[in-house]
Amino acid sequence: MPESRRVAVLGGGIAGLTAAMELAERGYDVTVYEANDRVGGKARSMPVDDDAGDDGLLGEHGFRFFPAYYTNVVETMERIPDGDGRSVADHLVPTTETLIANTDGEGAVASTERPSTPREWLDALQPQIAGGEVPRRELAHFVSRLAVLLTSCDERREQEFEQQSWWEFIDADEMSPAYRKHLAQSTQSLVALRPEKGSARTVGTIYLQLLLGQLDPNAPAERVLDGPTSEVWLDPWHEYLDAQGVDVRLESPVTAIHSDGHRVTGVEVDGETVTADQYVAALPVDVLPELLTPELRRAARSLSGVERVETAWMNGVQFYLDRDIEVVGGHAVYVDSPWAITSVSQRQFWADHDLEARSDGDVEGVLSVIASDWDTPGVLYDKPGRECTREEAVEEIWAQVQAHLGEDTLPDDARVSHFLDPELSETPEGLRNDSPLVINTVDSLRNRPDPDTEAPNLAVAGDYARVDTDLATMEAASEAGRRAANAVLDATGAAAPRVEVWGLEEPRAFEPLKRQDRLRFRLGLPHPGEVGHDAWQLSRRLRP
Ligand SMILES: Cc1cc2nc3c(=O)[nH]c(=O)nc-3n(C[C@H](O)[C@H](O)[C@H](O)COP(=O)(O)OP(=O)(O)OC[C@H]3O[C@@H](n4cnc5c(N)ncnc54)[C@H](O)[C@@H]3O)c2cc1C
Repeated sequence: MPESRRVAVLGGGIAGLTAAMELAERGYDVTVYEANDRVGGKARSMPVDDDAGDDGLLGEHGFRFFPAYYTNVVETMERIPDGDGRSVADHLVPTTETLIANTDGEGAVASTERPSTPREWLDALQPQIAGGEVPRRELAHFVSRLAVLLTSCDERREQEFEQQSWWEFIDADEMSPAYRKHLAQSTQSLVALRPEKGSARTVGTIYLQLLLGQLDPNAPAERVLDGPTSEVWLDPWHEYLDAQGVDVRLESPVTAIHSDGHRVTGVEVDGETVTADQYVAALPVDVLPELLTPELRRAARSLSGVERVETAWMNGVQFYLDRDIEVVGGHAVYVDSPWAITSVSQRQFWADHDLEARSDGDVEGVLSVIASDWDTPGVLYDKPGRECTREEAVEEIWAQVQAHLGEDTLPDDARVSHFLDPELSETPEGLRNDSPLVINTVDSLRNRPDPDTEAPNLAVAGDYARVDTDLATMEAASEAGRRAANAVLDATGAAAPRVEVWGLEEPRAFEPLKRQDRLRFRLGLPHPGEVGHDAWQLSRRLRP
């Protein structure tokens, strides 16, 4: 093996493992240094009871969903054998429905199955985009804003829409409470990104992807895994990497990255300096800044922006139940929950995962719940999640779900036990979160580093890298891992084919309009849709 082919990957989450896999498959000698006792980072599953280990119940930071637009991560999964003659991608199963639940009514169920007629498509979309409550004129306004986005060129999105929030872009202040609840605030249940803070470019672009996914008759709108993430995907991935010769070192945190001001010269692991020819930093966004020395900043200027990338909390709890409470055939979104709560009832999807055997027959159902707002006071203790104890947070989340589903559907006596994200720990001031999630706030794009850094032997991967998939997700981590692998291939002058990378696709039909807009943008002219919008805003302001 030529010397220039030794690669150290720092961090074994989705991004790091993706880079490791691509490079190992191209003949590189790869070592992954991972701080935890298992791979997968934010996506990993963990034993609920250490004594039972992986044979007992498994917990997760939160359930995983794979919307239709995911391409990179799914293609990786297709290449990982599951040990049973199939690939781990075969463990993705489509959902059939989404529940939009209110506290004051029945809620609405939207189909997530492939629509076969325009009517079915409209029926599927109706509860999701409008909840049936938004006035028609406001709905039309929202659609016109989406149309502006869809026909805008990339330059305008990056330079204009990046500078305003989604809230401003869709004029949420001017609209009814129903509009704000269903069209503006609903994004927070997908990711811990407040519409007032999230850039219009990011939220709008991803919103379009999700809507287009609903439209596509060729692919399911969203999928989930048929078992806990480590069991059906990450553990087989680890085995596949082993088979490819990747040296995955667990419980090996990197404590320093050494640099001579031009390139990386080594990293500190377990008190020793280890060296490689190329380095891929696939560390979480809150860890990388701690390792930035003045020399490393000089070597890779763009890394300094990472300190300014903001994070928010998105953490989950699994409720283990003595019965299976299905709730809905997919996601449930609890629109009146102050903590922006969503859930998936897992058992219906976890085909071969025997909950009863793993719990001495006590557990028959798992309700996996994620809270994406830890700053708004809850309904039980009237304080935000950050100020709660772990136990209070669990009770608060249960109460908010129950307020939507009703005690008949979700009775207290169904509860056997629970597992709250262990990254949340108690301090005298409240909770501390050791695994916050990146949020793409207004004007934050410039703080995110390109995977190919200025240092000749350092690439960056991670869900905060500047890639096409513009939201902290497994798809973004996967895209960043692929781009980081390509940076290594370029830096080492490899003849091997470059790793294929897919960006976000929008319908080609809009290309001519985007081209026209690019011309207008270069001439300093607004998007045609913005001309009417400015007049509309003015008329609202002048209203008595
Ligand atoms: C509750 C929750 C639910 C989510 N749900 C979804 C979903 O449904 N769909 C979706 O697409 N995305 C989801 N996400 C987002 C997704 O999980 C992340 O964006 C993605 O997993 C990030 O991968 P990563 O490799 O960039 O980072 P990480 O997963 O953070 O990986 C970084 C790795 O580096 C390791 N590390 C840390 N410090 C060191 C060190 N000093 N030395 C060595 N290693 C170190 C960590 O242990 C970790 O393994 C969710 C996130 C959360 C928190």
